[in-house]
Amino acid sequence: MTATHEITTATATFDVHSPGTGEVVGTYPIQTQEEAVAAVDHAREAFGWWCELTYAQRAERLSKFAGLIVRRLEQLAALIHDETGKPYSDASLEAALAIEHLVWAGKNARKVLGRKSSRVGLLSINNAASVEHKPLGVIGVIGPWNYPVFTPLGSIVYALAAGNAVVFKPSEFTPGVGRWLVDMFAQIVPERPVLQLLTGDGSTGAALCRAGVDKIAFTGSTATAKKVMAVCAESLTPLVAECGGKDVLIVDADADLDAAAEAGVWAGMANAGQSCIGTERVYVHERVYDAFLDKLVARAGELRAGVDTEAKIGPITMPKQVEVIRHHIEDALARGGRALVGGAEIQGQVVQPTVLVDVPEDAPAITEETFGPTLTVAKVRDMDEAVTRANATRYGLSAAVFSKSRGRELADRLRTGMVSVNAVFNFPSIASLPFGGVGDSGFGRIHGPDGLREFTYAHAVARQRFAPLMALTTFARTAETDQKVAKMLTLLHGRK
Ligand code: NDP
Repeated sequence: MTATHEITTATATFDVHSPGTGEVVGTYPIQTQEEAVAAVDHAREAFGWWCELTYAQRAERLSKFAGLIVRRLEQLAALIHDETGKPYSDASLEAALAIEHLVWAGKNARKVLGRKSSRVGLLSINNAASVEHKPLGVIGVIGPWNYPVFTPLGSIVYALAAGNAVVFKPSEFTPGVGRWLVDMFAQIVPERPVLQLLTGDGSTGAALCRAGVDKIAFTGSTATAKKVMAVCAESLTPLVAECGGKDVLIVDADADLDAAAEAGVWAGMANAGQSCIGTERVYVHERVYDAFLDKLVARAGELRAGVDTEAKIGPITMPKQVEVIRHHIEDALARGGRALVGGAEIQGQVVQPTVLVDVPEDAPAITEETFGPTLTVAKVRDMDEAVTRANATRYGLSAAVFSKSRGRELADRLRTGMVSVNAVFNFPSIASLPFGGVGDSGFGRIHGPDGLREFTYAHAVARQRFAPLMALTTFARTAETDQKVAKMLTLLHGRK
C-alpha cells in the first residue's frame, strides 16, 4: 500500500496543461475499470474500520485535516492556480471557504445522524421506536474542475463524517489538486485507505460508477449527469447530482444599486464566470434600469482578464468552453443584442468581461449555461415579471435578489435550491445550509444536515416493550378486536 493508498498499475497517462501558459503541469495515469474495482474493494475494507470509530473520533480527524489544509493553504492555492488558471487570491479564498464545512460536518454528524426515538401512535403504544442514519459504505465522488477543492469536499467531508469511505475521481483538468487533498488526508488518517484517488478521464468516472460503490456524488454538467445516471441505473446505484445553472440576479426599484452592481460583477465575472452558482442573467426594475446599468458597466469595464498576476480574472480553464462562450456572445449580437462591455473578440483562452443588453429571451445566452464572464441585463416592468422570467428556465440552482423592502418575499417565489438576499455567494459558506438545485440543476443535497443524510440510509427499529392490549398481527384476531379497532379509529379520526 502506498502512502496515498493509490492504485498505480495503469499504463496510459494524460497531461494537464496550465490554461494560462499551456505548459504541462502534471502527468497522471488514466485508471481503468479493474483499478476502480480494486479501489472500491480497498475502500470497503477501510469502511469497516472507519465506521466503527465514534462520531467524535471522526470529527477530530476531520478537524485535523482542516488544520493541515489551513497551514498549507499557499501550496494548495498554487496548485489550483496551475491547473485552473484561477488567480492566487481567488484560489486561496476557495480553499478557505471549504474549511468551515470540514469542521461543521464532523461536529454535527452525531446530532443529525445518531439514534433518535420516534413517537408512536395509540395502536402501537406497546412499542419503543427509534431511527438512526447509518453510512451507506463506499461513496464514489466525481468532481468538476471549476472549484476543485470546495466542490468535491462538499461531498467528501459529509460522506466521511457520516462514516463512509470515499473513492474520489477529480476532473482530468485538476487531478493534482485531487491528489494533494487525498495525500493530506492520508497524513491525518494513515491507518486505512478511507479516502482514495482515481485519476483519468470520463471513462474512469464511468468505471467508478460501475465499480460497486454504494452511491455516486456527481458534480458537473447536466449532460454528463444524464450519462452518469444511465450507468448508475444498471446497478440501481443511487446518485446525488449537482449540476449546472443559469442563475439570475433580480434588482428591485428600492435596491441599493451600488451593492447590487458590485455583487453582479462579482457573481458574474469571478472565476471567469465558471461558477455553477454564477450570475448569468440580470433582471432590473425599469425605474432603476439605467442607473443600475451605468454602475454595472463602470465596474465591469474596470476589470481585465489575463494570464498575468495583475489580472483579476484568469483564463477559461477548458479550451472547448471558449467556443460555447463565443457562440453565445456572437449569437446574442446577431439577434440584435449589444455588448456594452467586452464582446466576442476572444484571445486564446482569455475572455474579457462582457455585459450584453437587448438580448432576446430565447437566445442561448439567456437559456443555456454560458460558463464565462458574461452577463445579460434586461429591463422588467415590475418584480412579477422579473420572477416570471427568472423561473422560465429548466435550471434551478440559485438566485440573488436585491430589494430593501421585499427581498424575502421575492426569494420565496424563485424556484431554485438556494437564494441570496442583498448579497451573492453567501450561502455556500454557511455550512448548516443545504446546497443543491432542482430541474436540470440536479437533485439531492450536499452541505448541512441534508448533506450528511444524503450519504446514509435510515435504519428504523420498533421494539415491542410489552404485549399489545389488542393482538392485531395474528390470524387469531377476533371480530371483537376488529370492532374495537374500528371504534378507536372513529373516535380518533372519524369526526374530522
Ligand atoms: P463535466 O460534466 O464535463 O465533468 C464533471 C466530472 O464528470 C468530471 O470529473 C468528468 O471527468 C466526469 N465525467 C465526464 N464524463 C463522464 C462519464 N461518462 N461518466 C462519469 N464521469 C464522467 O463538468 P465540468 O468538469 O466541465 O464542470 C463544469 C460543470 O459543473 C458546469 O455545468 C457547472 O455548472 C457544474 N458545477 C455544478 C456545481 C454544483 O454544485 N451544482 C458546482 C460546480 C460545477 P473529466 O473531467 O475527466 O472528463
